[in-house]
Amino acid sequence: MLRLTDLQFDYPAPTGAVDGFRLAVPLLEVRGGESIAVIGPSGCGKTTLLRLAAGIITPRSGRVMIDETDLSTLGESARRNLRLARIGFVFQDFRLLEHLDVEENILLPFRLGGLRLDPAARDRASRLLERLGIAHLRRRSITRLSHGERQRTAICRALVTEPSMVLADEPTGNLDPANKRVILEALLDAAREKNAAVLAVTHDHDLLDAFDRVVDLGEGLQRTDGVGRVTEAPS
Ligand code: ADP
Repeated sequence: MLRLTDLQFDYPAPTGAVDGFRLAVPLLEVRGGESIAVIGPSGCGKTTLLRLAAGIITPRSGRVMIDETDLSTLGESARRNLRLARIGFVFQDFRLLEHLDVEENILLPFRLGGLRLDPAARDRASRLLERLGIAHLRRRSITRLSHGERQRTAICRALVTEPSMVLADEPTGNLDPANKRVILEALLDAAREKNAAVLAVTHDHDLLDAFDRVVDLGEGLQRTDGVGRVTEAPS
């Protein structure tokens, strides 16, 4: 379960610019087993929302709860450990390690997070490789993968720890139209089976019916001046 309450976040105006960026989220809750698509125009704060939910960046005020844990009560390293153990993140640029092969990338959260890499975890990795249609690539170097194959690898890695929450930034962005729905449904089904909450940014509006709910962040878009005052009403 993920719950954001009364969240306020500001990026200051860059040097020489007038406007900064403010994201305000009064309440957003994603329950276990539920999936939410986040849509909105470029620059409205979709990636910022995912980074706040993962505790990668910290809000000015308000609260991010993951299950029963309030992220603001944790220090940097505790937040990192919680992220590795409980959150699966599919980054827009994948963040795969090129000197490792596909399976090693998928098992990376275990190496980094001190989680137990037992036979059950290896088994889960094998099943995800099958499910995402890349079992034949398990020993292949990342450098020899297509964009779509990298994306599938990143999705497997996000799911392998059986996280309570999956955050995905454009998880179908690099796939051809025929594969978009297949891959998205594989991600959503795998998450649902384990009662994980899913929050996914997407531009693929023809796939929105695969989600339980859609949140349009464009509705809440705000601009601020250099001292954080709102200069533009929500559009
Ligand atoms: P989206 O994902 O909806 O395209 P982002 O969350 O990436 O939007 O960005 C929201 C706004 O915040 C944009 O105006 C962007 O320029 C600004 N922004 C993003 N990252 C930073 C940063 N690290 N520092 C300052 N401003 C940023």
